[in-house]
Order: sequence, then structure tokens, then C-alpha cells
Amino acid sequence: MRFYTEPVVTVLARPQFAEPAHLKVNWIGESTDGERLAEFAGRLCYMSQKNPATRSTRDYLENIKKQGHGSVLEHANYSLLLEGVSRSLTHELVRHRAGFAYSQLSQRYVDETDASFVVPPAIQGDAAMEAAWRLQMDGALAAYVAMVEQLMERYSWVADKVHRRKMAREAARSVLPNGTETKIVCTANARAWRTMLELRSSEGAEQEIRRCAVAILRTLQAEGFVRYDEAARSYSVSLHILELAYGVLRRSGLMDLARPLMHAISDTHGVSVYLSKVLDPTSLLLLDWVGVAFRTDLYVTVGRPSPVPAGASGVIMAAFGNSSEPELEALFSKVAWYQKPSFTEFLARVKDAKKSGFAVDRGTMFQGITLVSVPVLSPSWELLLILTAAGHSHDLEPEALEALRQRKKPVVEAAC
Ligand SMILES: Cc1cc2nc3c(=O)[nH]c(=O)nc-3n(C[C@H](O)[C@H](O)[C@H](O)COP(=O)(O)OP(=O)(O)OC[C@H]3O[C@@H](n4cnc5c(N)ncnc54)[C@H](O)[C@@H]3O)c2cc1C
Repeated sequence: MRFYTEPVVTVLARPQFAEPAHLKVNWIGESTDGERLAEFAGRLCYMSQKNPATRSTRDYLENIKKQGHGSVLEHANYSLLLEGVSRSLTHELVRHRAGFAYSQLSQRYVDETDASFVVPPAIQGDAAMEAAWRLQMDGALAAYVAMVEQLMERYSWVADKVHRRKMAREAARSVLPNGTETKIVCTANARAWRTMLELRSSEGAEQEIRRCAVAILRTLQAEGFVRYDEAARSYSVSLHILELAYGVLRRSGLMDLARPLMHAISDTHGVSVYLSKVLDPTSLLLLDWVGVAFRTDLYVTVGRPSPVPAGASGVIMAAFGNSSEPELEALFSKVAWYQKPSFTEFLARVKDAKKSGFAVDRGTMFQGITLVSVPVLSPSWELLLILTAAGHSHDLEPEALEALRQRKKPVVEAAC
């Protein structure tokens, strides 16, 4: 019996654009096949292949979207294989209809005697809850196997063995839980993926599907769907999938450098590790997180700016950013904490962080959660990124905190 703690996403098919020789477009700028296909379709509508406005593909698609001509994005399709996801996740996923096609493992046809299960993110890392949960899975599987055997007996008069098995399995699967692992092939166009990913990576979405939406985003980012625009210094979006920041990490190589170390910290200390980009003095953008999906994940959304100064990362922003004290006070007055310190106490934490190079918040931002943040500075000491570890306060005693802080050093040095 296998237990999945994260989904496995594999790209099965991606757009491949074959430009017709008699309608060549005057392309400007870098682009993927999917983008070219969309631009080609848009230009065909007006026979504007000469590109009279000399727009780059990215600008062209941006303009198309502003004009509400989004259907041209529907030509670019991606097919993904999702494994290690639960039946409850796919039940939610298949609600996305427009522009989607699905093919899912059949529980009537396929024997589930060796079924795998998906550990709900909410219980991961809690040994007692996981043990109790596993017991339930064992019991359900045993009941399934027994029921298949009995039903095969009961339907022994059905001559067609394949049909007999189906009859037994379709009834016996009713005892299998929502957490049973399944596999599904999903094909969708860029416009449809965007709608689904926006909905399912938001705070309101269920945790497992959120985790899956983020994994899909990572996969699509590797496909060139999501990009960082150096000139505009903003996160853009080849096919307007979502304003996510992975592009900068991938292009700079930071993702490759930081992720293994983030995983190492997370595994060694049993914490979740978050990497955020400082957008401006008032907001932080969560770029990426790794870890055991603590309930802190309920508070964060990848790709969404969060208000500051809040928690340990807020202290770091105040300590290493350029805001004046009155500006900080104005910002501080607007942000909610679980147990908000006074502004004087906050300034004392800022002073400590300036001296020590890190900040700790013991449960005053989120109840029962300790946050440890360190800054990632550019060579000219500009605050670029903040790395934050989050764990249950009762697990993070002072010695553990110090070890954690030391462990983060290589990530910060690698990032600089
Ligand atoms: C946080 C969250 C909680 C949810 N909770 C529940 C719940 O408790 N119970 C429940 O049943 N569902 C729930 N859902 C599912 C939700 O109601 C939608 O079914 C799902 O999000 C798919 O959205 P959609 O219909 O916009 O997507 P798609 O089917 O992919 O459609 C995309 C867009 O195409 C258009 N469109 C598609 N079909 C039609 C149509 N027939 N007529 C007109 N326009 C159409 C709409 O503009 C639509 O937004 C939840 C979803 C989320 C994200």
C-alpha cells in the first residue's frame, strides 16, 4: 500500500505550431509554440501577419486579452497526467467543464486490491493523526477485498468474467474512501487552465487541490507558460495563466539552488519553508513553499501579494527595507496579527533583527505557529527576498531555532 503526500504531474502533450509558408508572421520577441499559435490565430482574423504595429508576441497577446478576444488562447492545449491525487480531488477537478477533457482510471474495471491513498495535507506531520488515518485506510481496503471475493461468488452465474468482475468491483468500491489514489489525464486550453488555476490555487480552495494547482503551475512554468519580464520587472504570463513569480527563480537559477536546500531545512526541522519576493514597502509576494503542509499553508497563497509588516517577515522588511518610521507606523496600523504587539515593541524587534540578521515571531502572528525569517540581500544590500520557516511553536524551542537559523545560511548565501 502506497501513501502519497504530493501529486505527480507529467506533461503528456504541449502545443506544436507549424507555420504555414503562405501566411508567415513577422514575429517579434521570444515566444513559445503555444503563444505563436495564439498570435497566428489572432492575426488571421485581421490578416495582419505583417505586424504593422510592430508588437512583440507578448504585447500582442496582452492587447488581445484587454480587448476580450480571449478565444485565440483556446488554440493552445496542454495535456497533463495527474497521479497521486485522491478521488475527492478529481471530483472537484472535473467540475471544470469548459475547455477541459478528462480520462480517469476506472474503479469498476481496475482492481483496487493494491490501492494507494493520498494523505490529507491537514494531517501530514501529525504522527498520531496519520496513524489513526492509516488504520482506517487499512480497514477500508480489507473490507473492499472481502466484498469483491463475496460478490464474485454471488455473481458466479455471470458467464462473462470481465463483466462479473466489474459487477463485484463497482459495488465493493463503495467502501473505499475519498482519499483513494487515482490517476487522470486532463487536457485543457490555456484559457481554461487559467480559470481553473485561479480558482483552485486561491485561499478558499481545498488544500489538496490547492497543492495540486501549485504543482501544475510549476509544471506549466517549466513549459514557458509563466515568465518573468526583466524590463517591466514584473511577473508575466505568456498565455495569461496566472501572475506567478516562478519565472524569476527559474531564469536566475535561484529555484534550482534554493529548492533542495529549502527541502533539506524542511525535512530536518519539520517546518514549512516559504520564499517571498519583496514587491514594494507594502507587500510581499509568495514565490514558493516546500514542507509538510502545516496548517500555516491555510494562510498563504502562492502568487498573491500579502500585506506587510506582519509577523517575522514584516520585521525583516522593516529592518532591511527603506521605509521611514512614520511610514512604517502607518503601514503597521493597517495590518492584522493574532496578538499584535505595540508599535514600540515592533520597533524593538526590528532593532534586534538589524543586529542579528534574523527575526522570530513566536505565535503572535498566527496562533501556535513560530516563524523565523531571514533576508536575502542583493550585493548592493537591497532587500530582494525573504526566507521564512514556519513550524508549530511547541516543536521550536530556542536550541532548535538556532539550529534552524544556522541551516538557512547556505540558502541565503546561494541566493545572493
Ligand atoms: C472554493 C470553491 C468551493 C466550491 N464549493 C462547491 C460546493 O460546495 N458545491 C458545489 O457543487 N461546487 C462547488 N465548487 C465548484 C464550483 O461551483 C464550480 O463548479 C467549479 O469551480 C467550476 O467552475 P466553473 O463552472 O466556472 O468552471 P468551468 O466549467 O470550467 O467554466 C468556466 C467558465 O465558462 C463559463 N461556463 C461554463 N459552463 C457554462 C454554462 N453551462 N453556462 C454558462 N456559462 C458557462 C462560465 O463563465 C464559467 O466560469 C467550488 C469551487 C471552488 C473553487
